[in-house]
Amino acid sequence: MTPSYDVLVVGAGFAGSVVAERLASTAGARVLIVDRRSHIGGNAYDHLDDAGVLVHRYGPHIFHTNSHEVARYLSRFTAWRPYEHRVRARVEGRLLPIPINLDTINAVYGLSLEEEDVEGFLATVAEPRSHIRTSEDVVVGTVGRRLYELFFQGYTRKQWGLDPSELDASVTARVPMRTNRDDRYFTDRFQAMPRDGYTAMFRRMLSHPNITVALDTDYRSVRRAIGYDELVYSGPVDAFFDMRYGELPYRSLDFRFETHSTAVFQPYPVINHPNDEDYTRVTEFKYLTGQRHDQTTVVYEYPRAEGPPYYPIPRRDNAERYAKYKALADRTPDVHMVGRLGTYKYYNMDQVVAQALAVARRIATGRAAVDVRRTLTTSA
Ligand SMILES: Cc1cc2nc3c(=O)[nH]c(=O)nc-3n(C[C@H](O)[C@H](O)[C@H](O)COP(=O)(O)OP(=O)(O)OC[C@H]3O[C@@H](n4cnc5c(N)ncnc54)[C@H](O)[C@@H]3O)c2cc1C
Repeated sequence: MTPSYDVLVVGAGFAGSVVAERLASTAGARVLIVDRRSHIGGNAYDHLDDAGVLVHRYGPHIFHTNSHEVARYLSRFTAWRPYEHRVRARVEGRLLPIPINLDTINAVYGLSLEEEDVEGFLATVAEPRSHIRTSEDVVVGTVGRRLYELFFQGYTRKQWGLDPSELDASVTARVPMRTNRDDRYFTDRFQAMPRDGYTAMFRRMLSHPNITVALDTDYRSVRRAIGYDELVYSGPVDAFFDMRYGELPYRSLDFRFETHSTAVFQPYPVINHPNDEDYTRVTEFKYLTGQRHDQTTVVYEYPRAEGPPYYPIPRRDNAERYAKYKALADRTPDVHMVGRLGTYKYYNMDQVVAQALAVARRIATGRAAVDVRRTLTTSA
């Protein structure tokens, strides 16, 4: 007999896991969640490496949100360790705060400005453009050419494989910078890491008796072998429709992990390398996780044109192509696209959770309405 579920969820990252948990818990749905990888957690997956250091396999993931709803929801599955992230950029042999703040400006220009002087100073170095078209226009127009060249141009070229002058202004709609000495990378109200790691949190989320998890399982290999009423899909939307309108391009990354026989490797959690080196940044995980260990592991990130899909490329032609896929998805009954691959958007984890909570509510409401109609039909 064909195994049958109420809902098939594709992808066990934040998007798929949140929808699966909500539908199982609040709508009593029987859910099968599949992932083609051998683990749950999607790109937020963490695990102990060979030395026993807790690492994030797909690059550093730092949790931050302004949403009470998202923080409260995830707190059902994890305790938290308070953590405020700090990053330095290696520039002209020095480690300077990024986002650019008062100390960065003083160090670069050899000044001793105070907070109230910054705006006036930037007005003397900025090169306002009459027509803002590219990322370069945005940055040079706000902080001037020197800061642009030191902190943005090289990093953007590495990250996107494009010069800022070729990237849409929307990529850098606002230059992240502070006029004070605040050197935190994020300013959200809630900044913390799951105390036992992300994978432990996902394990608790998916431990509901109505949820069956199948790993190493591609959606395509099961879609005809099982029965289900609705499909929640957090894989790439273009692949779902067999690339009907062409491929949606992504920027990829290679990760190089290194374990060192020393308790501390570098003086900050993340060091960006905007200008030299092939890698963009180096992260030391123990700062993020708070783990005590006499060895330490770091990861180097190398942007790539080819490889697993990580960052949707923000260009107008790609947005237009995605709009066609979205229209098609909207016309496909009982299919719900969710997450960063399903909706072709760079989302932070909290944004994906918020989106998934909304999608789950919509599906649960739809299912309840169908149940009511069935009851009325049977009793009529
Ligand atoms: C390098 C990097 C660093 C990041 N750092 C942060 C950060 O510090 N803070 C933050 O908030 N966010 C960060 N993010 C964003 C974060 O990773 C995403 O918001 C989050 O992982 C999105 O979850 P998701 O479920 O949409 O996608 P994913 O986590 O990618 O999950 C999708 C899952 O679907 C599976 N899948 C796809 N197709 C199929 C198929 N056909 N069959 C079966 N399974 C399939 C995939 O294997 C995958 O596991 C970072 C992203 C990257 C790339």
